Amino acid sequence: MSVIKISNLTKIYNKTQVPVHAVNGINLTFEEGEFVAIVGPSGCGKTTFMNMIGGLEEPTSGSVEINETNISALTSNQRINFRLQNIGFIFQSYNLIPVLTSKENVAFIMQLQNKPKNEIEERTTQLLQSVGLGNKINSKPNQMSGGEQQRVAVARALASKPKFVLADEPTANLDSKATTQLLDIMKKLNEEENMTFIFTTHDQRVVDKARRIITLEDGKVISDQIIS
Ligand code: ADP
Ligand code: MG
Repeated sequence: MSVIKISNLTKIYNKTQVPVHAVNGINLTFEEGEFVAIVGPSGCGKTTFMNMIGGLEEPTSGSVEINETNISALTSNQRINFRLQNIGFIFQSYNLIPVLTSKENVAFIMQLQNKPKNEIEERTTQLLQSVGLGNKINSKPNQMSGGEQQRVAVARALASKPKFVLADEPTANLDSKATTQLLDIMKKLNEEENMTFIFTTHDQRVVDKARRIITLEDGKVISDQIIS
């Protein structure tokens, strides 16, 4: 069973004269198969928190352990590899590579992992079909809608079969139809493949789908609610 264990996690930004406690002593555990929403007002520390879970930002103090590996203790190369194996990212701005087709964008991570060509071919096609883009395999980002691009980003995040998928405001730039489609896909992968999703959101319809809702305020957890 894969687990993320977060202990006393803190991030202080010292860029101005007044230090900003963006994340202020968070203790939480996430288990495989969870479907978690992280909510709270703008500036409460959601993005900083997610970036530290994924090893994109270094904590000021405290730790993130993924399956008992403290990710801060890894060298940056080890961390990149570890991240590729364990974590998929979906961002608000889809971060697709504009000159590549959907298929090439999804294949990219697997190429970094030196996967065999035929495996890459099979899995990219299967992933794009599973997010409903079987007919957009050879389209480039500027030939697709925002919702379609976000689904390519989901397929890409899943390419390395991560146990945990972190999504920072994944529906922020989507209309309601695209939001519903994206949520349905996340829910399906969660239920059928036991993939864990941790997502931040401002959208109540997205919050309503979560099975656990964590509320942050001023960098602290003020409520952690399991929905039965
Ligand atoms: P949220 O995603 O909930 O809106 P953030 O994690 O982006 O919150 O920000 C939390 C706090 O940290 C805010 O006060 C923000 O201004 C500050 N902050 C975020 N990133 C930086 C940074 N790179 N340098 C300085 N302050 C930052
Ligand atoms: Mg944010």
